[in-house]
Formats: sequence, structure tokens, C-alpha cells
Amino acid sequence: MGDERAERIAEFVRPLRVEPGRKVRLEQDFDPRYKAGIRRKRDGVELLRSGVELLADYQRRLAAQDTHGVLVCLQALDAGGKDGTIRHVMSGVNPQGVRVAGFKVPSDDELDHDFLWRYHRELPRRGEIGIFNRSHYEEVLVVRVHPENLLRQKLPGAARGPGVWKRRYREINDWERYLTDNGFTIVKIFLNLSKEEQRTRFLKRIDVPERNWKFSPADVRERAHWDDYQKAFSKMLSATSTAWAPWYVIPADRKWFARVCVSAVLAHTLIGIDPRYPEVGGETRRELAEVKRELERQAPEGEPADPFAAKETGEGKAEGKAKGKAKGRGKGRGRGKAAGKGRGGKHGGRA
Ligand code: ATP
Ligand code: MG
Repeated sequence: MGDERAERIAEFVRPLRVEPGRKVRLEQDFDPRYKAGIRRKRDGVELLRSGVELLADYQRRLAAQDTHGVLVCLQALDAGGKDGTIRHVMSGVNPQGVRVAGFKVPSDDELDHDFLWRYHRELPRRGEIGIFNRSHYEEVLVVRVHPENLLRQKLPGAARGPGVWKRRYREINDWERYLTDNGFTIVKIFLNLSKEEQRTRFLKRIDVPERNWKFSPADVRERAHWDDYQKAFSKMLSATSTAWAPWYVIPADRKWFARVCVSAVLAHTLIGIDPRYPEVGGETRRELAEVKRELERQAPEGEPADPFAAKETGEGKAEGKAKGKAKGRGKGRGRGKAAGKGRGGKHGGRA
């Protein structure tokens, strides 16, 4: 990654990040229609495409290095665009390296445990990108806006009394700190939708029959609590955007722009981790060279000793022919480009 490109991405995401300790008033501080001076959707689509490629490359390295995991927490009000964002932003990434977990109303079993239990069980492994579609932040959002949820959690009296939200913020920050210290980078994304855009999207879900399934009358009932949610989001952003696990507020009224932003935030996060393909040491390198010679000796007549190296250097045919003629004098072959390079060659080098 060139420093210049990394710097451009860092510049782009800076205004979206909630600086730790900042007191956020969502509606005054963040405009859901902001689009960073990008005028046309077409330009955004181009940007997203290069972001998707960048992400795929970094994800391969993350998986190869196998020491860090990334957890992306995605929060939004209904119709905020969580599903579409995941689909588009992760479209280039190897599905084997990604796990998505969605969180709905907790089950009885989940309610029988501490409030972070069900989230901990779905964390990504090292080498993976995990996406929480809704996350542990529901515990200070929907649960705060509808306190009857807290009653269902069977907490002892002292644990649900005054100060419960402050305590939850602290517990969440501590949990995230613990994960970060152990190699799991956390990035938190809030898709910030305006009330009017939500109304439009709900109507679209009602008007277009193929979208009816996405709509639930309960979503409109939740909309009645709009102001309470804005307050809960503001408090949450103020208390839980930390140096180790920052929040990004993404302008979500334009889906294409939200996707560009999310892809930039993820790219920025992965650039920060800077995962590398493992390099093999001298001993392994020698072993690889030995095995390589053995494989080359097994080349059928008329075939190049190392078809891959031959393709790279364009010498395949010539070498194959030469081998046919030199039958029985097979020693000393395999001096192709990749000879002896082990994994340090084209497919193993740092990008
Ligand atoms: P979709 O885009 O399909 O609507 P969704 O994430 O909104 O996806 P739903 O099944 O519609 O999924 O809603 C899940 C519901 O679960 C949300 O209303 C959310 O607030 C609620 N929920 C999530 N976590 C908790 C929690 N810990 N306690 C209570 N309710 C929760
Ligand atoms: Mg829903």
C-alpha cells in the first residue's frame, strides 16, 4: 500500500470518526446527507470498486498471517441499509474469511447468561473479519429505549438500578479493550439515516411488492421512538468511542455514499493492522527447493520442468522441446524464475 493512498483514505475517514471523549449530539453534529464533495454516484461506484479490491487483498493477508481478527459492529435504525452495505462492501472478499452474525431479540437461553455472552460466542477467529449485524450495542440502545427489555434480563436488583447504562458503557469498553489487547481489532459503524429518508424507504417497502417482506409494522412503531433513539445513540457514541475501538458515523441517506464510506473505514482499519504474508525461514526455504527439484524431475516428456515458472518467463514451449530432445539427461533443469524462491516469489511477496 502506497503511503499516499493510505493517507488519502485516512483523510477521508477522519470527519466520520467520533474522537474519544467527544460529546456527541447526533442531529446537530452529523448530517445524514453529507457526501464529502463527491458529486456523482458514478464516481462513488468507481471508488467502491477500488475499495472492494483493496479489502479483498488485505483480507487474504489477514488470513495468511493468522494473528489478528477484525470485528466490525454495524448499527442502524430500521431501513438504515445494514444488509445492503454488507453485501456490497464485502462482495470481493473470500467468504471463507468472513463471518456475519445477526442479533435479534434474545432467546431464553441467551437471557439466562450475562449480557455479553451471546456476542462473545460469535466473535471472529484470528485471520477472519467478523461482522455483527446489530451488536452488543443493542444492550444500550433498544434495551435503554424500552426498559422492559432490561427486566427480562433477570438481573439482580443491584445490577439494574441507577447507573446501569454508565456501567454497561464501561463494561463494553473494557471488553473491547480486552479483545483489542489480544489481537482483535474492533471498528464500529453507525449508519446515520434521516427521519425523512427512513419514511421514504418504508414507503418503498410497502409500494414495491418484492420488498413487502422487508417491512414490518413493528418498524413503524419503533419509528415513534425516533427522538429517544437519537438520544440513546448520542450517549452511546459519546461514551464508547475509544482510542482502541472508535465509532464512525456514516451518512446513510445515499446508499452508494454510505458504502463508499464503510469500505474506506474498513480499508483504513486493515491498513492500520498491516497484515503480512508469513515469510519462510532458511531451513524451510531449503526444503522447498529440494521438493521443487523432485517435482521437476517428475515432469513428463515434452512438458516443461516447472510449468508455472515457464509461463512466467514465456520459456515453456522452448524448455519443453529441449527436454524432449535431452531425454535422459534431465539434471540441471529448473532454473526458471521462481526456482528456489519458495513463497517469497510473486504469490508470497508483500504487496
Ligand atoms: P431486517 O433488516 O431484516 O429488518 P433487523 O436487524 O431489523 O433486520 P429484525 O428481526 O427486524 O432484524 O429485528 C431484530 C430486532 O431485535 C430489532 O428490533 C432489535 O432492536 C431487536 N434486538 C436486538 N438485540 C436486542 C436485545 N438485546 N434486546 C431486545 N431486542 C433486541
Ligand atoms: Mg427490522
